[in-house]
Amino acid sequence: MIKLDKKRSRLLQKLEQHADFVRGSLTDVCATCNRAKCICEKKTDGRTYRLTYKDAQQKTKTVYVPKRHRQRLLKKIANYKSTRKIIEDLNSVNVEILKQSMRDE
Ligand SMILES: [Zn+2]
Repeated sequence: MIKLDKKRSRLLQKLEQHADFVRGSLTDVCATCNRAKCICEKKTDGRTYRLTYKDAQQKTKTVYVPKRHRQRLLKKIANYKSTRKIIEDLNSVNVEILKQSMRDE
């Protein structure tokens, strides 16, 4: 059990390290008309970014993101993917702990 507890603590630490996460996907849109496919009469090449995600009610939400925040946001999105993996690993450890506790009874 001690070994599994250690494993779990390590995963929880890892989760904490990735806590600055954001779920969603980033697409680039025209800075003027906010569309992926620009509809402006005079084409401008100013692009900005749009983060889209579904909220708890499965409603699609959009957040406009200035270009200078792109890299930071991509890192946060990557963090979200990492947390998913860590949660899976935590689940496996928790199942092992459950099995062991049932055996020990
Ligand atoms: Zn446009």
